[in-house]
Amino acid sequence: MKNHLKGIAASDGIAIAKAYLLTEPDLSFEKRKVEDSEGEVARLLESFETAKSEVSAIREKAAVSLGEEEAQVFDAHLMVLSDPEMIESMNANIRDNGVNAESALSDVAGMFIGMFEAMEDNPYMQERAADIRDVTERVLSHLLGVKIPNPSTIPEEVIVVAKDLTPSDTAQLNRDYVKGFVTDIGGRTSHSAIMARSLEIPAIVGSKEITQIVKDGDIIILDGLDGDVFINPDEETLAAYKKKAEEFSAMQAEWHKLKNANTVTADGKHIELAANIGTPKDLEGVVANGAEAVGLYRTEFLYMDSSDFPTEDEQFDAYKAVLEGMEGKPVVVRTMDIGGDKELPYLELPKEMNPFLGYRAIRICLAEPEMFRTQLRALLRASVYGKLRIMFPMIATLNEVRAAKAMLEEEKANLLADGVEVADDIQVGIMIEIPAAAVLAHQFAKEVDFFSIGTNDLIQYTMAADRMNQQVSYLYQPYNPAILTLIKHVIDASHAEGKWTGMCGEMAGDQTAVPLLVGLGLDEFSMSASSVLKTRSLMKRLDSKEMEKLADKAINECTTVEEVIALVEEMKAKLVKADSGAKRPGMLACLVFLRASEFKAISEAESIISAGLFVWIYFASRA
Ligand code: PEP
Ligand code: MG
Repeated sequence: MKNHLKGIAASDGIAIAKAYLLTEPDLSFEKRKVEDSEGEVARLLESFETAKSEVSAIREKAAVSLGEEEAQVFDAHLMVLSDPEMIESMNANIRDNGVNAESALSDVAGMFIGMFEAMEDNPYMQERAADIRDVTERVLSHLLGVKIPNPSTIPEEVIVVAKDLTPSDTAQLNRDYVKGFVTDIGGRTSHSAIMARSLEIPAIVGSKEITQIVKDGDIIILDGLDGDVFINPDEETLAAYKKKAEEFSAMQAEWHKLKNANTVTADGKHIELAANIGTPKDLEGVVANGAEAVGLYRTEFLYMDSSDFPTEDEQFDAYKAVLEGMEGKPVVVRTMDIGGDKELPYLELPKEMNPFLGYRAIRICLAEPEMFRTQLRALLRASVYGKLRIMFPMIATLNEVRAAKAMLEEEKANLLADGVEVADDIQVGIMIEIPAAAVLAHQFAKEVDFFSIGTNDLIQYTMAADRMNQQVSYLYQPYNPAILTLIKHVIDASHAEGKWTGMCGEMAGDQTAVPLLVGLGLDEFSMSASSVLKTRSLMKRLDSKEMEKLADKAINECTTVEEVIALVEEMKAKLVKADSGAKRPGMLACLVFLRASEFKAISEAESIISAGLFVWIYFASRA
């Protein structure tokens, strides 16, 4: 049996814990006739009772770990489990038709579900249908002796193993117990990977077959630094990884010394180092990691966390909390970017062949003006509580920018006319994540205050490689000279108009990309909060003029990603040498940890070269 797997390192850190399989249970059964109807009735009632005590226990735990409000969903389940009318119908079905308990349960529940779902304009009844479906699955699982996993109520330290995790599955993970996760599918820029980084839990995605190899309760080592998973490891491997985990913690402690430091390059150039957030709760990580701004607030999570569109006041509260929490430091709030891998059940988007190329973000907002205007009003009202920057996502054409800006202006005028205060210094920018906008950046720069480059999408659209698909993840190439050339054009175009360019895609925190981006003149870097301090540490050691030459070489002389990586590695090796000459062990150790995986080696050979370099540097530093 295989006991080592390689996946895509999606979130830094090392975890060692039991596996918790979060896979779809197999609840298939055969409809059959039974002789002993009373025996079947008893079996059904017993499964109802077991399900009831299970749900009560889950409810109790959920109240503690998620809060009373979240736990109340289980009250509805308990009500269904005690519904005499439904249970009696099931019993009658067994007795009258002589069928097994599984068939009676699913036939009767199916009838109730169908009845409630038919009441289309009654959301209350629609919810009851969902409750019955949930409860039926639970009772069925007991009849069949199959386990139903529940990520929000995991009672011990585990590593979650799943085929895939949606952003909402990820949001439900209880950080006190979930020490990391490994999935079969997904890429480094899928939103569950991004969320793992903001939750600061190690993660590996795209391992292809973890769910087929691992069983519940197996001991797993998850190395989110290099993408390795070990299943039921031997003592020697366990000891080696415990040591690696300790070294990583020591490294983090070293980076933390820079929490209150300014972000300046070795030659004194200040760079704005910001963090990305998904909810106001993420501010904790932003502050703990000493970020200077919020460079991307993904507001769609506010919509996804709710069972209906958040009201203007609910949105206002969230935006105000973030602006106040940042105490006057800049906050870039991105208007809703639903679509792609971020679904919104109550918006009922049509199923699409290519959701990432479909109805998404600004496209939805412009087609649903009332929804968009509600968000704009909430933002404008909140603007007086801090330094707000508003950003529109997925911009492809200038017409979209003009339409969005016109709505913003109209809402501002309406609020002012009603005597509501609105800040008068709100910058309005766009995400550059569609190649058409990058190519015409010089035109867009005349009509907006700033750009933020969304490389997660810009790379997938430029390379025609789905960011969620591990089969083509080798084409997710941030250092491809084509991508670097596009980025350079965007930055230069903004500067020519006296505007600024940031980057909020994952590339901004990528330790191989950072020197190149400093060289290209990027003004603001926004990343997962957990990457801020290691990036500050790296930037302090880079000379911006030297990096200009490096970026120039990468764009004009390199023809492949491998050549660009080699160029950056060579530069870093020189830095390490200079450090070791200057006897700066702390900084040296930092660089050592910007190791092989950070260089995103894309082939086995590169991994080996990088790992070799790592080992050499490590021992050189100790000599
Ligand atoms: C991006 O595309 O780089 C980005 C930051 O947006 P998202 O990852 O939410 O699509
Ligand atoms: Mg994007």
